[in-house]
Amino acid sequence: EAKAKGRNTYHFYSQELNAAANERLFIENELRLAIKAQQFALYYQPQVDSRTQHVVGYEALIRWFHPTEGMIPPTKFIPIAEATGLIVELGAWVLQEACEFAARLALQGRENNISINLSARQFKDAKLVPLLASIIKKTRVPAKCLHLELTESMLMGNVEAAIAQLHQLKALGVSISIDDFGTGYSSLSYLKRFPVDILKVDRSFVKDIPDDPNDMEITAAIIAMAQKLKLNVVAEGVETIEQVEFLQNNNCYIVQGYYYSAPIAESELSSLFEKLNDRVELSP
Ligand code: C2E
Ligand code: MG
Ligand code: MG
Ligand code: MG
Repeated sequence: EAKAKGRNTYHFYSQELNAAANERLFIENELRLAIKAQQFALYYQPQVDSRTQHVVGYEALIRWFHPTEGMIPPTKFIPIAEATGLIVELGAWVLQEACEFAARLALQGRENNISINLSARQFKDAKLVPLLASIIKKTRVPAKCLHLELTESMLMGNVEAAIAQLHQLKALGVSISIDDFGTGYSSLSYLKRFPVDILKVDRSFVKDIPDDPNDMEITAAIIAMAQKLKLNVVAEGVETIEQVEFLQNNNCYIVQGYYYSAPIAESELSSLFEKLNDRVELSP
C-alpha cells in the first residue's frame, strides 16, 4: 500500500512538474514573439505625497496582454525573461517607453519622476549605461526625473562591480532606489557603501499595519534608518488610511499603493487627477 501511495505521489509530482515545465516553455516561446507583436504595455502607479495628495511620481510596471491567455502578470514572466536573457531586449523597451512617457508628462507640465525596475541581468549589462544615455538624449527626458529601482540581492554578488556601475548610472544624472527594502540581506554597513538615494519599504511590512506590532517596529526602524543615512523613503503597498497615518506619524510621506491608486494605463491618468483633486477639496 505504501508503495502504491509512493508511486501515486511520484506520478502526481511529475504531472505537476510537467505542467510547470510546459507553462515555462510556453511563456518562453511566446515572449520571443510578444515584443514584435506589441503585446506589452507599461502601467503607471502614482507615488503620492500624503500631506498634499499630490502625485510626485510614478512607478512603471510592465503588463503583458496575451491574445489568448489574457493578462500574464510580471511575476510569471520576468523571471523567465531574466533566465533566458530576453530581459535585455524587454528591459530596453521598458526604458524607452518609460522615458517617452516622462517626456510627454513634461510637455503637459506634470510632475514626471518615473521609477523604472531593472532586472539583475540588465543591471550587470555593460550596454546599460550607453543605452540609457542614448534614450535620455533622444527622448530629452531630464535625467533627474529617472529613478532606477534595484533590489538588495542585485548589489550583493560582486560588490565592487555594483558600486562602479551605480556610479556610472548616477553620472548620467539618474537616482537609485532600493526596491523591496528589508526583504534582502544587506546590512547597514553594506548599504552605506552604495551610492543610493531612495529606500522603498517593502509591502510585506506595510501590509499588516496596524495589526502586527513587529511590522510596525520594523517599518519605523527602516524609516528612521533612511533618515539617518539621508535617504528618501517611499512606502509600497499602502492600502488603508490607518497605514497612511502610521507612516505619517513616523515621517514617511511618500506612499504608493491601492489606497491612492493601482497601476493604471496612461489613458486613465486624467480620471485619477480628478479623484485626487476631489479628495483635496473634500478634506477640511
Ligand atoms: P515591485 O517593483 O515591488 O512592484 C510593486 C508591485 O506591488 C506591483 O506588482 C504592484 O502592482 C503591486 N502593488 C502596488 N500597490 C499595491 C497594494 O497596495 N497592494 C498590493 N497587494 N499590491 C500592490 P506587479 O505590477 O505585479 O509587479 C510585480 C513585480 O514585477 C514588481 O515588483 C517588479 O519586481 C517586477 N516588475 C514589474 N514591472 C517590471 C519591469 O518593467 N521590469 C522589471 N525588471 N521588473 C518588473
Ligand atoms: Mg519596483
Ligand atoms: Mg517593490
Ligand atoms: Mg518586487
